[in-house]
Amino acid sequence: MKPIRHQADLAINGAAPAFDDALHVGRPNMGDRDAFMRHVGDIFDRRWLSNDGPLVQEFERRVAAHLDVKHCVAMCNGTIALEIAIRALGLEGEVIVPAYTFVATAHALQWQGITPVFADIDPTTHTLSPEAVRKMITPRTTGIIGVHLWGRAAPVEALEAVAAEHGLELMFDAAHAFTCTHGGRKIGNFGRCEVMSFHATKFFNSFEGGAVVTNDDELARTMRLMRNFGFSGLDQVSYPGTNGKMIEIAAAMGLVNLDAIDDVIAANRVNYRAYREALAGIPGVRVLEYNERERNNFQYIIMEVTPDCPVSRDALIDALRAENILARRYFWPGCHKMEPYRSLFPHAGLLLPATEAAAASVIVLPTGQTMDPHKIGVVAQVIRTLVQGA
Ligand SMILES: *Cc1c(COP(=O)(O)O)cnc(C)c1O
Repeated sequence: MKPIRHQADLAINGAAPAFDDALHVGRPNMGDRDAFMRHVGDIFDRRWLSNDGPLVQEFERRVAAHLDVKHCVAMCNGTIALEIAIRALGLEGEVIVPAYTFVATAHALQWQGITPVFADIDPTTHTLSPEAVRKMITPRTTGIIGVHLWGRAAPVEALEAVAAEHGLELMFDAAHAFTCTHGGRKIGNFGRCEVMSFHATKFFNSFEGGAVVTNDDELARTMRLMRNFGFSGLDQVSYPGTNGKMIEIAAAMGLVNLDAIDDVIAANRVNYRAYREALAGIPGVRVLEYNERERNNFQYIIMEVTPDCPVSRDALIDALRAENILARRYFWPGCHKMEPYRSLFPHAGLLLPATEAAAASVIVLPTGQTMDPHKIGVVAQVIRTLVQGA
């Protein structure tokens, strides 16, 4: 394999872009500025900044309607939403999760003294393998958290069957899957509850934010208590709780971005098609395909570097970064290789071959409102030059 050529060798519009023009993964999508400013004016007029304000209530109603789900309990971020959902379901002991996910899925358990037990994924879909889950069940197991990675549903029905067979709770981390569908039904309706993240880098954001959505009245009521210190009346606390509240300014951003969501998804879809076309025929790389019958938000462009690629995944990342194309390795190196899990389960990798293969082969490429087919052509040209010049 020849060494990667220096960036000066790559004729990209004559010069590498300045840093301000760097193409980022996870650059925020933003809705209408004037609409947001009007909300800010209203917030000042009302002096109602937090504690279940009118914008949070409107946001919850709109998100629930958008997802065709009965309850949306908005929270300050997706991680606290996960923690509260886990606690509201009464999980304890061991809970089975994929290691191929953002580390918050595992941390939300570990933080509460629950052991995350990592099960392997399906090598083609990157979501939990139900057979692998089955193998990890012990007498201490109380639940399963499936992750809908890249906007594609985890194997919901198969996981439901495993959970029912062993008397386990089932919930989903749907941080990647806002507005996506499974079997034509909106994600948010599966398991006991599903957790959303509205972090700035997700395609739909409320600066920071998250929610648990569920069709279970009692669970929703419990989570509303938990996110507000357990307060059930002015001076009445009827539950141990934390502070997981969403604030008004976050809800304002969420509402404005919800109005823009169809435009953002349309832009993402155009970008996805542009990547598919521009990267077609380059040996050793392929863009992950989505099921055309399901709705996806196309928030992630996943390029897999296959074993026959003449350039390594990491060399490609380095070369892209040298061109100010800030591509990312997700979820490298896998939760099981991060602390404390790495020390707690030093041999976990032996049971996670598909996780390790995915973590070693995926590159996430920039998309969203700030990308367009022209910029994507530039990214593809860098990749083509590197691969074909190697
Ligand atoms: C982003 C993300 C989270 C955490 O959400 P925050 O809002 O950043 O706390 C959890 N799980 C997955 C899969 C995520 O992508």
